[in-house]
Amino acid sequence: MLQLHVIASGSKGNAAIIKDSAAEAALLIDCGICKRDLIAGCVGAGVDPASLTDILITHDHSDHTKGLGVAVRGLTKLGAQVTIHASPAVRAVSGPVEEALGTEGVSFHPFRAGDALSAGGMQVHVFRTSHDAVESFGFRVEGEGEGWAKDTLGYLTDTGCVTPEAHDALQGVRLLALEANHDVQMLREGSYPYLLKQRILSDRGHLSNDQAAAELDQLLSCLGGTMLEQVVAMHVSQENNLYLQAQEALAQVLALHQHPASASVAKQKTPISLI
Ligand SMILES: [Zn+2]
Ligand SMILES: [Zn+2]
Repeated sequence: MLQLHVIASGSKGNAAIIKDSAAEAALLIDCGICKRDLIAGCVGAGVDPASLTDILITHDHSDHTKGLGVAVRGLTKLGAQVTIHASPAVRAVSGPVEEALGTEGVSFHPFRAGDALSAGGMQVHVFRTSHDAVESFGFRVEGEGEGWAKDTLGYLTDTGCVTPEAHDALQGVRLLALEANHDVQMLREGSYPYLLKQRILSDRGHLSNDQAAAELDQLLSCLGGTMLEQVVAMHVSQENNLYLQAQEALAQVLALHQHPASASVAKQKTPISLI
């Protein structure tokens, strides 16, 4: 079965580990946190840091990449053989990706939207998201098994809207990490400068609680919606949202569908595990 360990989520830093319990290896999505927090997160999640063989980069923003160079050197010293997966355009503009690739023994695997790649003993399908980065992506991760027996996870953060590719990729997953960044009213009435508010609200910004709830509603209405067991609200703003509010937005949709899945929330500083 797949496990999702979100070490940190939010505008100050992001990192999440995905592991198939049947596999030795594990993969890391993004590294916008320091090495110490990453290693502590691994230990807390029961994942050997040396088993992190693959790192997937969603996009080039620093809250997703800034710890990469130091963390990769640390993982390599612990014996990990790391491959970094990112799009060529993201690599081209990301200092931390380039820094990490300067570490001896670290390799690079370029991906594009629509690719299926092998990482951490799992299959990963890459889809495009809509965000104000040079390019941005989400992932559908599949574990061992065939057909309906295959365990699946969807990972979507840092997107201003749910692209059709993203919606398709999230269908029928058992574990779902879904951005619920802001409460629109809190953002509108909050202290952020006008242009920043417009950026966040735009189609290339971040998903609101309402947008996340609408997407969850759509997914539960699809064939395969019954597969869902856990959904976690991601990248929740500490300025323009409340953790409980983001979680409730998703829980209400589950209640509406009388769906037995549970809703939780990923925080900036406290790791959470979905198993
Ligand atoms: Zn971000
Ligand atoms: Zn971003």
